[in-house]
Amino acid sequence: MLNIVLFGPPGAGKGTQSENLIRKYGLVHLSTGDIFRANIKGQTELGILAKSFMDKGELVPDHVTISMLEQEVHKHSNPEGFIFDGFPRTSAQANALDAFLAKKHTTVHAMLALEVSEEELRERLLNRAKTSGRADDANVEVIQKRIDVYNRETAPVASYYKNQNKYHRIDGLGDITVISERLFDAVNTAVTQS
Ligand code: AMP
Repeated sequence: MLNIVLFGPPGAGKGTQSENLIRKYGLVHLSTGDIFRANIKGQTELGILAKSFMDKGELVPDHVTISMLEQEVHKHSNPEGFIFDGFPRTSAQANALDAFLAKKHTTVHAMLALEVSEEELRERLLNRAKTSGRADDANVEVIQKRIDVYNRETAPVASYYKNQNKYHRIDGLGDITVISERLFDAVNTAVTQS
């Protein structure tokens, strides 16, 4: 199996680049943001709860997010691997992910961290709001809150993977296909090392 964590602040390009990684490596895409949005659309109990946090730019509580992700992981009995997009976002989530994967006798092979300046993120998110229909992209205060939450709660998760020699910093600025090539190079390096 090949398991990749795609990491980076909101607007770094995780969704776009996930598509290219899936195409290249045949992985199962698990985006916690997408799963929450599907639940909001379906008006499930989980969706109603998640929405109350997402609308404010806050993280959905760990116990809710972790149990939802665990169920998704176990839905796939024999996958080529997973790409985790937008998860883990806290240290507790990173620990939980290792535990789920250990149950499947596997692990995270690489953490790919897309780096983009805050100014560029703000611009990209406001631009995305024109087509995404996402309320959390359209409001400058919510955008800033998401960036602040990322810096405070999520950015430290990089150390967790640095300590395991799984961290790969990727310049997230430039042409989409050029960024994809950077990601593929990092995956290939990780696969050779593991
Ligand atoms: P995203 O689509 O990754 O930008 O996520 C949109 C929103 O969903 C975030 O601002 C959070 O409110 C929520 N969310 C997504 N993934 C997580 C996660 N791993 N932990 C907590 N909240 C999350």
